Amino acid sequence: MKFTRRRALGAALLVPLEALAQTCGVVTPRQTEGPFFTPKSPQRKSLLEGGEKSRLVVTGTVLSAQCKPAANALLDFWHCDEAGEYDNRGYRYRGHQFADAQGRYRLETIVPAEYPGRTRHIHVKVQAPGKRILTTQIYFPGEPGNRRDGLYRPELEVKKQGPEASFDFVVEV
Ligand code: FE
Repeated sequence: MKFTRRRALGAALLVPLEALAQTCGVVTPRQTEGPFFTPKSPQRKSLLEGGEKSRLVVTGTVLSAQCKPAANALLDFWHCDEAGEYDNRGYRYRGHQFADAQGRYRLETIVPAEYPGRTRHIHVKVQAPGKRILTTQIYFPGEPGNRRDGLYRPELEVKKQGPEASFDFVVEV
């Protein structure tokens, strides 16, 4: 009994809870795709079309649970606009891209608005070539809406400094 408790404590100290989602070996939590996914988004790394007031760059790596880069992984992003609306007729703020040979991706877009019931978030589907699709959402730190959103999870928060954000996805390969 005593031995077991001590071992559990040791494990807790080695892996800080907030780092779990971005530590390789722990697959990124799945989240609902919601009602606004549209298949066949255009292939592009920038969702900016000109005239945007804010700008956000999200970078990161797609890794396997074995900590290896998932080369050429597919990432399909979609999110609402500055007014909290999704483009359900066209492809505004929708786009897919492929990670490079090191699993790295770079998305250029805006910070999406909140909409009723939801804090700011970006939807994404991530898939290593030929493997299972991981559907999830990423969130922003310090948002008052986070605590009011039942889907929000701290493990899915990007690291953010000004317009630069980063998030590493860990997928099953
Ligand atoms: Fe959404």
